[in-house]
Amino acid sequence: MKKKALVWFRRDLRLEDNEALFACIADGLEPIPVWLGLQDGSKTGSAFKVGLHYSLMDLDAQLKEFGLSLIFCQGNCLKSLISLIQESNACAVYWNRRYSASEIDCDKNIMESLRLQGIEVKSFASQLLVEPMFLRNQSHQPYKVFTPFYKAILGKNIPTPKPNPLHGKTFQPTAINSIALDDFNLLPSIPWHKEFFSVTNFTRTDALNKIASLKQHKLEDYSGMRDIPGHDGTSLLSWALRLGVIGVKELWHALEPDSHSSVYLRQLVWREFSWHLLFHFPKTATEPLNERFKAWPYLKDKHLLKSWQQGKTGVPIVDAGMRQLWKTGYMHNRVRMICASYLTKNLNISWVDGEKWFYDTLIDADEANNVMGWQWVAGCGADAAPYFRIFNPVLQSMKFDPEGAYLLKWLPELAGLKGKALHQPWLQPDFNYPKPLVCLDTSRKMALQLYQNG
Ligand SMILES: Cc1cc2nc3c(=O)[nH]c(=O)nc-3n(C[C@H](O)[C@H](O)[C@H](O)COP(=O)(O)OP(=O)(O)OC[C@H]3O[C@@H](n4cnc5c(N)ncnc54)[C@H](O)[C@@H]3O)c2cc1C
Repeated sequence: MKKKALVWFRRDLRLEDNEALFACIADGLEPIPVWLGLQDGSKTGSAFKVGLHYSLMDLDAQLKEFGLSLIFCQGNCLKSLISLIQESNACAVYWNRRYSASEIDCDKNIMESLRLQGIEVKSFASQLLVEPMFLRNQSHQPYKVFTPFYKAILGKNIPTPKPNPLHGKTFQPTAINSIALDDFNLLPSIPWHKEFFSVTNFTRTDALNKIASLKQHKLEDYSGMRDIPGHDGTSLLSWALRLGVIGVKELWHALEPDSHSSVYLRQLVWREFSWHLLFHFPKTATEPLNERFKAWPYLKDKHLLKSWQQGKTGVPIVDAGMRQLWKTGYMHNRVRMICASYLTKNLNISWVDGEKWFYDTLIDADEANNVMGWQWVAGCGADAAPYFRIFNPVLQSMKFDPEGAYLLKWLPELAGLKGKALHQPWLQPDFNYPKPLVCLDTSRKMALQLYQNG
């Protein structure tokens, strides 16, 4: 009988560009694919769990084409692995490495415990273009500035992604107890997520279609159109990269030969940079990288925070973004920056509160990208926008959504307003729209004052 090994899927819900799965087959072992629930050291938000549910379902369906099934277990991951090994007679466990502090701890403990019991564990690099431990600047320090980091990545030979190793093979199902995916209750009890499907259905096929559409239609204009929230000009692949439905090396190599792809590939390097930072500076998950902001006098104002969360600030571009987020689990990058700037600078509420809300409501909620995005806007992170550069949400709105296509999509109640009034309805005294929570000009001046005194 052929020897078997467990392949533990985590941030890599795919068969292509999956180093652990590839190595298992290359080692002559029959894979037993497993998913062990949410106690695996990673941080999950409510919207993200929706995508997780559907992507796991899709992965299971892909495995079934080869006679395999995804085995689901709940509870302590180490205990689950040990009991699965006993049940299946597997001789080893294969997984791809992860890079947040809690994930590293989890994997290290499990690896040590299994090895003590004589079980072989093999781990691989599949989440990033280059693993963070292999990148240092000329002073042998972790990078804190993006451009040299970007150049360093471009100087690396990005390994070619591995093909699906199951192709051409058929396996006999292994009789192992599995609970049902529904038992994890990943979906919300009220159908909050209906409109998430306007962004994606969380399948590999959708991710591949989005890559094809990127190559055929979007890449050429990407640098000009990626900032226009009313235009479908970005790839909408962030959920797929977060769940690992596609691999970043796979995406990189799919686009690399195209002369239009450099601006897009640069964005993938921002993702890479954020993981580099979180790996080398794990405290930044909750603390600013720049010490100056540690004791910043942020307000604890539940009313202001709630109004922002509900898209009722009175500033249309902020409200539109927050409503897009709540309805679809997604928000355009330009608007993420505007909403984050408004919360941290105009309302003087901590980026930590904003980060938490985004993390819970984004389908692409990613520990590293989210923290870096928030710290960048708040001015307290690596290579961040200087604190004193405060977005004016009205000017941003006029510049990037001049005709109000985005505003009117998410705030149909603004129909009837035109020109400047669309971006600042308070100019129309009788118009029925929430009055601004704070005066933009005064709050901006107060933020600058705080900065000068701090
Ligand atoms: C406050 C704030 C919070 C954010 N939170 C997240 C988050 O939780 N998860 C997340 O994936 N992205 C986050 N981002 C980055 C960015 O907004 C999203 O990656 C992007 O909007 C996703 O849409 P897309 O796939 O169409 O992007 P595209 O423009 O098509 O970009 C392609 C890919 O590059 C990566 N990327 C693009 N921009 C950035 C960036 N600024 N930083 C890091 N990676 C980037 C993403 O993986 C993205 O899918 C955040 C940005 C800000 C300002």
